[in-house]
This record gives sequence, C-alpha cells and structure tokens, in this order.
Amino acid sequence: MSRLIWVVLVLKACLISANAQNHVTALPHESEGIMGMLRRFELPVTPQMVTQFRRLNNLKPNEGVKIDQTYRMPIRRYRYNQKSIRTTLGISDYSHAQRIADYNNRMTAKGVREDNFLNSLALWVPDHEAKNIHAATTEREVRIPKTSPQIQGKTATWPIFGSKYATITRQDTKLAGRVYYIDAGHGGPDPGAISKVGGFSMQEDEYAYDIALRLSRNLLRHGAKVYLIVQDPNDGIREGTRLLPDKHEVFWGNIEMVTNFTDRLRQRSGIVNALFDQNPEATAHRLLSIHVDSRSLKDVPNPMDPHFSYYSGSDDGARLSRILFDTMKPFYTTEGRSYSGSIQTRDQLHMLLYPKPVAILIETANIQHPIDQGRLMKSSYRQAIADRLTTGLLLEAKTDITGK
Ligand SMILES: [Zn+2]
Repeated sequence: MSRLIWVVLVLKACLISANAQNHVTALPHESEGIMGMLRRFELPVTPQMVTQFRRLNNLKPNEGVKIDQTYRMPIRRYRYNQKSIRTTLGISDYSHAQRIADYNNRMTAKGVREDNFLNSLALWVPDHEAKNIHAATTEREVRIPKTSPQIQGKTATWPIFGSKYATITRQDTKLAGRVYYIDAGHGGPDPGAISKVGGFSMQEDEYAYDIALRLSRNLLRHGAKVYLIVQDPNDGIREGTRLLPDKHEVFWGNIEMVTNFTDRLRQRSGIVNALFDQNPEATAHRLLSIHVDSRSLKDVPNPMDPHFSYYSGSDDGARLSRILFDTMKPFYTTEGRSYSGSIQTRDQLHMLLYPKPVAILIETANIQHPIDQGRLMKSSYRQAIADRLTTGLLLEAKTDITGK
C-alpha cells in the first residue's frame, strides 16, 4: 500500500469517527433474550429489529445471546455539541429532536444507562430514529454552485420554465424566508412508471416534472426560495397533452444523474441536504416529491386523486400532509363523488427518510387509469394540481407556529 493511500484512509477514518457513530453496547440480563434486550432499550420488538440485532453482532439465524458477552445495540452514540440535538445531528424537525431527548432522559431515569447525555455528551440515537442523520456524510461530497433560488427584486427570468413562462413577476412575499425543495420524481436514466396510451409512451417523470415546474413558479411568485431539484434544460412548462419522453434531466446545479439507482437516490438527498445547509437563516424547509403512481386497475379501479405520504416520525410531515389533503379535498368532492386521496406513512422511502427538510411525497394520479391519463394530459389539470398545492402551502405557512 502506498503512503498516499494510507494517508487518505487515515483521514477517512478520522472523518467517520468525528461523527462518533459507535454503537451502544450491553450485557444481557439474566434470562434475557434478544427480544428482552430490545425491550429494555425501548426498541421496536419486530422481526426486522431482531434480524438487525443479529446482523450487528454476527449471530446466526436462531442463535441467541450469551449471558457474559457484550452485544452491540441498534443505537448509535453521537457526541452532543452542548447546543442542541438538532444542531448536533443536523436535523430540522423539532419533534424528532424532542423524541430523541426524551428517549435519552428515559434511559437515564430507568437506569438503563448510568450517565446523562448532558454531562457525558453521549447522545443515544436508536436506529429507527436515525432519519436524516446518515445523510450527513454524503453531502460533503456534493459541490453545489450557488445559483439564486429566488426572485431578486420584482421580476426575474428563469429560462428553465420555457420561453413563454420564463419571466416571473413577484405577486407578494407571503412565503418569504421559506425554502421549498421541489423534487420531480425519477428523471434522467429513470422514466418512472410507464403506460401506453394509443401508440404513445406516457412516462411518469415528464408529467411529474411539468407539475413540479408549475408549482415552483407559483411559489417563486410568493417570494419563496425554490430549488427545483430535477431540471430539464430542454423542456419548460408544456401545454401539450403528450409530453414526449427524454432523458435530459439533471439535478440542480447541472449535476448529471448517476446511473445506479441507489446511488442516484443518495445523490438526490445529498443535494437537497447540501442546499439545506446553505440556508441556515430559513424559517422553514419543505421538500415535496412529486410522482405519478402506477397501480393495476384490478387493485385500484377508481381514478386516483392526489395521495400524500410522510415518514411516521415526522410530526411536521404529518401536519403538512393533512393541510394539503384538506386543501385538495373540496376540489374533488364537488365533482359528484368523494375524494379518493389519502394520507399514509411510508417509512421505507429514501426521499422521506434521508433529506433534512420536512419531507412529503405526493402521488398525483394513477398512470394506468384511463381517466387519470386523460386528466394528466390536460395542462389545465397539471396547473390545477400545482395551484391547489400552492394554496395548501400558503395556508401551512400562515399557520406555521413552530417554524423550521
Ligand atoms: Zn414515482
């Protein structure tokens, strides 16, 4: 091994340990099994958690714990910075930070741990609460040019919206101070869901992108900072019904999308988190991922109105979803039928788990349903979705008492 490689490796190791992510360790109590240990540390006693415990400790399936041996718990230790849990972990959700504080205090009160995190500076974060935290390492690798994300002055020109819509006039400053990360799902090498309509290949990423553009433009008009995470330099806002598929999409800052699916998700959240860090003065950060679902008509026979998802640990995500859901509802119930939208928690989605902003995901329609295909193909419908989301976001901003 050359000396240079050695230096790089040592440096890398230092970077990792600076983040202090070593696991909490424990001895099993008398007659305590894996489940008992998980229960003692108030971890979810689920088969997944048991598997995770086994993996952490190199145990074979069905192998139990031995009484005199130390085991690693799915809980990581971070060095508390003596300011706040949020700044220690680089998270923004206040309720998330509060839960972590409560957890640490309970562990001390119950005698599960002997120290107190405020004195020992060892902050415990159970893996199931580690939302957003892992992402902290990826953002260092992302270099983002400081393109302005907002209208400076009364009008601005953003060519990304296409020649007809490039010039934007600010209407008011109702969203001033707030930062929106508008993330059109998929793009580049990944078209997302596809359906065939006549001879036309209808692709999710193009329709999600058009809605994302329209929404972004609306938010800019209210004085918000808007990061359009996915961008296509060729396609502005389009009026047509058949949005022709291409693979030109890049990330904010003209960053080319990597080809590997998982790496691309990391790239996406890493960019969002790097932008988040560029805006410490913001009063709120909201990430909206816009998608078009794909369900078989057998499973979902009715047209699909906008659905909202958030990570179960995010109270702010729940609140935002609720407000947007309530805003959407009247528009669909007046059509002589009830609103088929829903709010659900989805804890496996990368873009709900790893980004630092309060994040939600919107499935705007079902690309397989003929009625939804017809609706999505109308530019007026795409605009209507963007407008309704804007109405909801304005309401959310107005009633936002917690900030951030
Ligand atoms: Zn999608």
